[in-house]
Amino acid sequence: MSTDATTGLIQADHEYILQTYVKPDFVLERGEGVYLFDTEGRRYLDFVAGIAVNALGYGDPEVTSAIAEQAARLIHVSNLYHTAPAGELARLLVEHSPGLDRVFFGNSGAEVIEGALKFARRYAREHYGEGKTAIVAFDGSFHGRTMGALAVTARDKYREPFMPVMPGARFATYNDLASVEAAMGDDVCAVILEPVQGEGGLRVADAAFLQGVRELCDRYHALLIFDEIQCGMGRTGTLWAHEPSGVRPDLMTLAKPLAGGLPIGAILLGQHVADAIHVGDHGTTFGGNPLATAVGSVVFKRINDPAFLSHVREVSSYLDESLQDLAADLPGQVRELRGRGLMRGVQLNVPAAPVREIAQQQGLLVATAGDDILRLVPPLITETGHIDEALTILRRALV
Ligand SMILES: *Cc1c(COP(=O)(O)O)cnc(C)c1O
Repeated sequence: MSTDATTGLIQADHEYILQTYVKPDFVLERGEGVYLFDTEGRRYLDFVAGIAVNALGYGDPEVTSAIAEQAARLIHVSNLYHTAPAGELARLLVEHSPGLDRVFFGNSGAEVIEGALKFARRYAREHYGEGKTAIVAFDGSFHGRTMGALAVTARDKYREPFMPVMPGARFATYNDLASVEAAMGDDVCAVILEPVQGEGGLRVADAAFLQGVRELCDRYHALLIFDEIQCGMGRTGTLWAHEPSGVRPDLMTLAKPLAGGLPIGAILLGQHVADAIHVGDHGTTFGGNPLATAVGSVVFKRINDPAFLSHVREVSSYLDESLQDLAADLPGQVRELRGRGLMRGVQLNVPAAPVREIAQQQGLLVATAGDDILRLVPPLITETGHIDEALTILRRALV
């Protein structure tokens, strides 16, 4: 049931916006904490969080006042000039990322994936000449929708209508070191992977696998790129998802949660990679603008607080137990639990989209990953009571 006003808003979307997404028939208007409200006043518990973006939920006072203050002071001047906020956020990122010494800021996930691929090729050319351009990626990967990012994204449905994409990508099997060994060669300049896969199915890389990939990269003089655009920044209970493995990448990409919902991306590089990138090699108009980076520093400090991260770990284990109970009670519906921290997948024996619709009608927003996986990526400020509320609705939606 919707008023004429809501129907009008939906019609405008259908009439004027390019229809690349299928959206439900309500219009979101405001948010508060972990809840969203639509134009009809209905409330939704949000376990999508703008696709793992809104780590601090909605209406966070520190984030909103940082936006207001910085917007009044300075929004944008371009990278032709120095401003204070970008340097401050870069310092925070570098100081908490062992082995990574420099930052390049962009505006989105796909943009920083492009940049990371360019930097890897630049490094290889500088040190080994022209032939070292191949990139090894993985089945189940998702790195974005631009031509380079698509080339290393596994799903054919995303890539094939736009062929030819960037040449030189090849795919190995996630968590299968032998497949990586088979894909490696002297022509490989980089291996790119998500320590916890998002869109492609919420699989978690084994520590031994990451260590093995690191060794193969060293043997073939290839750079290791960790895409932490979705799994980074506290989502899995540690600042970086790769942290527990002890493996250090040569490059790392960040984006989704980094600026509290404002568009941002970042590439972190080891000094050895940075040394191969010269003035004029890469650029961006908006990247690192004072507004996004000032908010980024606020978000980073909040998430990197030990008490905040231990909260994430506590609610994560509560979510884990709750999902295990659900799986035990509904073995016919639930096939497998995946993911780590507050980045979880519930693989079903049935298509996930209809379950998502029912949950939505009952006031819970969840995403999907592929055809049969429900993806739960709530704000990191979620409490155990919210998890109870979500699981009650999910249970009802599944039976
Ligand atoms: C979302 C995502 C991207 C792409 O980010 P966009 O901002 O949508 O371009 C890349 N990698 C991972 C792991 C992602 O989750």
